[in-house]
Formats: sequence, structure tokens, C-alpha cells
Amino acid sequence: MIRLDNVSKFYYSKGVIAAGFSKVSLNFDIGEFVAITGESGSGKSTLLNVISGLDTYEEGEMYVNGEETSHYTEKDFEDYRRKYIGNIFQTFNLVNSYTVYQNIELVMLLNGSKRSEIKPRVNALIEQVGLTEYKNTKASKLSGGQKQRVAIARALAKDTPIIIADEPTGNLDTESAAGIIELLASIAKDKLVIVVTHNFDQVAPYVTRKIKMHDGKVLEDVRMNGAAEPQEPERYDDLAISYKNIRPLSELRLGIRNAFNIPVKFLLTTFVFLFIVVALVIQLSSSRNVYSPINGEFGFNYYFSNTNKTRLILKKPLKDGVAQPFTADDLKALDGVDNVKVVVEQDLLVDSNLDFQNEELGLYVYGAAADIADYAGGEPDYGRLPKADNEVLAVSLKSSYSLPKGKKQIESMLDSEFYRYKYGDNNLDKDHPYKIVGLKYIDNKSQDPLAGNMEGTVLYCSPALLDDIRVESNARYGKMNITFQDKTYKNESHWPMFTVRASDSVEPGTCWVSEDYNYLVKNTLRAMDKPLGIEIETPYYKDSLDLTVSKIYTKQTFSDAFKIPEGMSYDDCKGIILINTKDLFKLYDHESFQVSVFVEDGVKAKDTLAKIKDMGYEGVSMQDLLYSVGDMAIINLVTKVMLVGLAVVLLVISYFVIRIILKSRNVYFSTIRMLGSNVSTARWLIIIDLLTDATIAFLVAMAGIWAYLKFFPIQEMATVIRSFVEPSDYVVIYIVTLAIAFIISSRYANRLFKNSTIQTIKEEV
Ligand code: ADP
Ligand code: MG
Repeated sequence: MIRLDNVSKFYYSKGVIAAGFSKVSLNFDIGEFVAITGESGSGKSTLLNVISGLDTYEEGEMYVNGEETSHYTEKDFEDYRRKYIGNIFQTFNLVNSYTVYQNIELVMLLNGSKRSEIKPRVNALIEQVGLTEYKNTKASKLSGGQKQRVAIARALAKDTPIIIADEPTGNLDTESAAGIIELLASIAKDKLVIVVTHNFDQVAPYVTRKIKMHDGKVLEDVRMNGAAEPQEPERYDDLAISYKNIRPLSELRLGIRNAFNIPVKFLLTTFVFLFIVVALVIQLSSSRNVYSPINGEFGFNYYFSNTNKTRLILKKPLKDGVAQPFTADDLKALDGVDNVKVVVEQDLLVDSNLDFQNEELGLYVYGAAADIADYAGGEPDYGRLPKADNEVLAVSLKSSYSLPKGKKQIESMLDSEFYRYKYGDNNLDKDHPYKIVGLKYIDNKSQDPLAGNMEGTVLYCSPALLDDIRVESNARYGKMNITFQDKTYKNESHWPMFTVRASDSVEPGTCWVSEDYNYLVKNTLRAMDKPLGIEIETPYYKDSLDLTVSKIYTKQTFSDAFKIPEGMSYDDCKGIILINTKDLFKLYDHESFQVSVFVEDGVKAKDTLAKIKDMGYEGVSMQDLLYSVGDMAIINLVTKVMLVGLAVVLLVISYFVIRIILKSRNVYFSTIRMLGSNVSTARWLIIIDLLTDATIAFLVAMAGIWAYLKFFPIQEMATVIRSFVEPSDYVVIYIVTLAIAFIISSRYANRLFKNSTIQTIKEEV
């Protein structure tokens, strides 16, 4: 049934030709139990490999059941092997991570059998080789003899007419070896069994034929134990077994089994995919966050220090060219608009900077000023809420530099008195102590939009203190003209000729000017009881005050009424016009002409602004005032390109990592190839395997992210993930992860099958 006619096999290595065997002519028939012996290197294995179709030959002709094979392609040999050959190797080639049952089942699954056919047959084979009690034991736990029995059962599972065993007892002790030979002898009744052995004595009582090889040639070919002489090669009908390709469901089952059955491999690959999923989620959310119109750090503005992207800045339309103040009704109406979180009546305060100092502690606490009535953040983390007019609550990012770190320092801050600089005064105003009575931490600026300034700190205080700050800010930023002795002095330059300061020593409606202005103002002394006009212009309104000069001050009288700021001399102060504090307030303590509104959802900020404009107000969104935010379409594109770039980097890295992890699987794939799987089956097994790992990793990542968001809801990363990753994004990330798994497994499968069957087996086994 197998006939070799002058067949030679040569090896070419490094330009040298070596003969595996040469000019071998042999006939083999069903019912024979052939032992091939000979010293090492005599060509036994090469001959078996050629007969098995694992290796090709160069010369002569091999007939299989009457058919020539010299024209066979790799695919034809694959087909031949599946129809005719069952191999048993010295090294067993079992799948160590599979049980006895699974190892035997494997070959039937690969050859397209149904589960219902597989079960009884596998159980019968296990019984035949005497391993029933080890049915569910992993192959790695078996002894050498037991492993070889499994290998035999596996070779028999396909019921091929030819069984080929290359030194099947080479790794076994004498007792197990005898058992194996007996088993093979029993099989040989209705099959062709060819065994290579070093130890002929061991097989001598059973075999029907002995072939001795030497130096690639057949030296001896004798019948044993009374077997008949060889006949002409016979053609058998129905000899080849029929086979189908693996069933898709079996492929799926095997792939999933492979995903789990080596725990270390499973954990490592799952970890790689977990890393991919998490990296994609973080990259997606943080790049959207960076460029987002809500929390993005990109974008800046020279005029506003609070650049929170939920901020809207509102004005009322001019009436006859005059700014209109916001009334209580206006504020109420704005407060009622959907998505509005807080309305800050005095817009100026949002960008103000309130600072307190305590020289003993060396502490300088600063932040934007806000009305305690606008605070909605609950109990502070340290201390308590303010009660008195001089008490302050600080709300701050942990990372802010404006507040002390550490429990002890915070407590001593809460216990201490702080002072401020009065407007235009370089000395701390020790007459008015303040206390920071509470400290509340926030995790990000969206938690308290009023802390949207650089420091990320807001100081909530009493309306009385806010009035002071507002007046100071207006005075600082407003323009002022002084009309004095029929001349108007513009007060716009950095070093103004005149400045106005408040002192309670001055009677309301009057002012004091310096005696030493002779060189500027003609005869200052004559100014007594003369009018002095002050006009101011803030960004919102104009106002004026007509005063009468009630004193021409000297160094002595000035110093009594106004404390000369530290580091300044009387000479530096000669441009100061002293007026009463109430008059200063008259000029600057106006209603609000500009308010700021902070919205709940920054994404809808512009919609909310449109709604407010419909109500008859004017305004801008901070999002439009920021520079370099750029075109959202471009930013979206950049975000996507970055994401794709990351995916590619992850793909390359994980390919190399997974290749190392899968290296341990090479044996598996050469084994299943030997058992009859084709390239496509092996590829799909790897793909299903990795897709399973990727899916598990994705589910674990989802559970992890869910838990993270649930248990650490206010961590910055959690907020970012919650705001910027939508369910559809997770679907996309899952698909990207699957795509990465798919590409890796296809590439890996291609590499694995670049080599021929025999090379793969020789290399890996
Ligand atoms: P045996 O199984 O009897 O020990 P082999 O069939 O393995 O002998 O080897 C027969 C001859 O072929 C030896 O000379 C060996 O060196 C050579 N040979 C076997 N495999 C290869 C190979 N892959 N490349 C080159 N020479 C080989
Ligand atoms: Mg050998």
C-alpha cells in the first residue's frame, strides 16, 4: 500500500549536500508491524518523515495506495496526512495544559467530528490505553509511559490506516516500554504500524518485519515471527479515512479553552489588553479635557483672572449712552435661568484679589473675593463657616500655593488674626483684624467656579468687606480728572500728579491739598476755600464730586491725618488730595453695572448666554474671550490623531510583548498542525484566544472604572472620565482593542506558518 521506489532524500545545509537516505526501495502493507533499526544518523527518522508526508523527497517515487506522490504540493501532503497518517513521537507532543480527554478530543475536533461522535470514541480509546482514571488529569501531571499512551490514543482517534512511531519508547523505562509495544502490536492487526527503535530486542517478539538501516541505505529487510513474504503493492478501496474541516463551533470552543487554560499566559495577555483599554480611556478623556471648553487649561485672557469656562459676563444695554445698573429684579431673573449656578452681582469681585497677611506666621493668604451668601459648598474641612463681618472662609484647590499645607499650619492659621493693606496704603491696617475661620478643599475648579483664578482659591467674606474691595478696585482701575484753579489735570499716567486718598480727619464735602504745590499750582495758599472738582470714569460709569479746599496741609498736619506709607517720605506724598472716606465711597460705591454668571454645565454655556440675551441683556462667554482655544473641529481632529497614534504605539508594544508570551504556544501550534489543522484553523484559534483575553480585559477595565468612579467620585481623573467618556466611546475603545488583538494574532499566525510543517516540528519540539 506504500511503495518506495529508489527514493532519496537530501539535505542542503551551508552549500553542502548530505544524504538523509538514498535509493531506498520498500513496500509496506496493511497488517504489518515493522521495526526499523540502525545506529544514530542512519536515516531512520528521515525515512519516517518522508513516509508521513512531513518531509519531501528529491529522487525516486513514493506510491500511496497506487498513487504517485512526487508531484504533491504541500497542500496535497497535508491532505494525505489527514487521510492516512497517525504519528507518535518520542517526545509525545501532547498539549500539557490539556487533560487526557482534551488531548485526544483535540485531533477529532480538528478533523471535523461532531461532539456526539467524539465523546464515546474518546472514552473508548482512553479505556483501550488504560487511562480511564486519568481521564481528567492534565497531561503535564502524567508519567512518561502514561503520556505515550495518550499519544497513542490520540494517533488512533482518527482511525487512520497507518501509524508511524519514531522511537516511541525512547524516553520510557523498560516496563512502560513493554506495555507500549504490546499496545502497538495489538493495533497492527488491521493497520500498518511502523516503529523506529534503538532497542530491537524489546520489539522482537511482536514485529512482523525488521528493517535495518545503515548510512542512509537499507542493510537488512527480513520477515519475523513467521510472517509471510511481501506481495505486490495492493490497492485498497475505502482505505483513506474521510475528514472534514473543523466545525466553527469547535473552533470557538477550542479558542476559548486556549484563552484560559494556561493561567500565566491568560493573566499576562489580559494584563496587556487591560493596559491598552485603560490607556485609551485615560488618553481620550484627558485630551478632551485639556481642549474642552469647560475645564480646559488651554486659553488665557489678559484682563480676567477668573477664566473659568462656565463664566458669562453680562451687562445691560446703554440707555441714552448711559450704563444701566442691575436691579434686584434683574438678579432674580438671571438666577431663575436654566443651567445658571450662581449670579455674582459685582463682576469686578470675580477677578479681584483679596489678601491677608500675618507677619508672625509669615503667612500671606490671597484669592478672589466672594460674598459668603454665594457659598454653597457645605461644611468646611477645617474650622467653621464665618459668622461675624470680619470672618472669612477659604475655599481652595489642594494644590494652591496661597494656603498653608499640613494640619498644624492650617490650625494655627485658623487661630490667628490677619490684616489687610488699606487702599493706597503700604502699611497693614492693624485696626481691622480679620480671621480665616474655615478652610474647604475642592478637587477641581469646576467644583467652585469662583475659584477659577490662577491660585484656585476664593475667600468668602462679609458684604461689608466686599464693599471695601469694590471701592478699592474701582479706584485702582478708574480714570480720574482733577479740576483745580481752572485747570484740569488728567490722572491717567503711571505717576499721576494727583491722587486721592481717604482720611476721616477731613470733613465730608471738603478736601486738603499740599502747601508745597507752588511749582505746579500757582500760589497754593490762595487755594483755601476754593473749589476742587473730581471726575471719575470707571469702565461702567462716570461720576463727579465738587469739594471745597478746607486745609492746606503741611508735613505735620498731613502726618496727623494720614499715615505715611512705609518706604515713602512726605515728599512722595505731596500729590495726595485727602478727602473724607464717605466721599470716596460716594465716588466708587456704585450699583453693579456688570455681573458674572456661572453656569452648571459649561458645554451649554453658549446656549444659556443666548437665552439670557433673548431676555434683553448683553454679554459674552468666557469661552469666547480666551485666546488660543482654537477651532474645535481641528482640536477634535488632533484628539483623534493622538488617539490613533497611541493605539498604534500600543499595538506595536503589545505585539512584541504578546509574541513573547505566545512563544510558549508554538509547541501547541506545531502539534495541532501535525494533527491535521491547517493554517486558517490555527489562525482562527489564535484570534479567538486573544479576542477572548481582550474581552475579559475590557470587562475587567469596565468594572474597575465603574468602581473607581463610584468610590472616588470627586478625584480629578474620575470627574474627567465621567464628563468626557460616553458609552459610545467605550464601545469604540472595545472595538479598537479587538482590532489590536486581531492584528496581533493574524501577524503572529503568519509568522508561525512561514515555516514548513517539518521545520516547525523540528524547531519547536
Ligand atoms: P536517525 O533518525 O537514524 O538517527 P536521521 O534520519 O535523523 O537519522 O538523519 C539522517 C542523516 O540526515 C544524518 O546524517 C543527519 O545528520 C542528516 N540530517 C537529518 N536532518 C537533517 C537536517 N535537517 N539538515 C541536514 N541534515 C540532516
Ligand atoms: Mg532519529
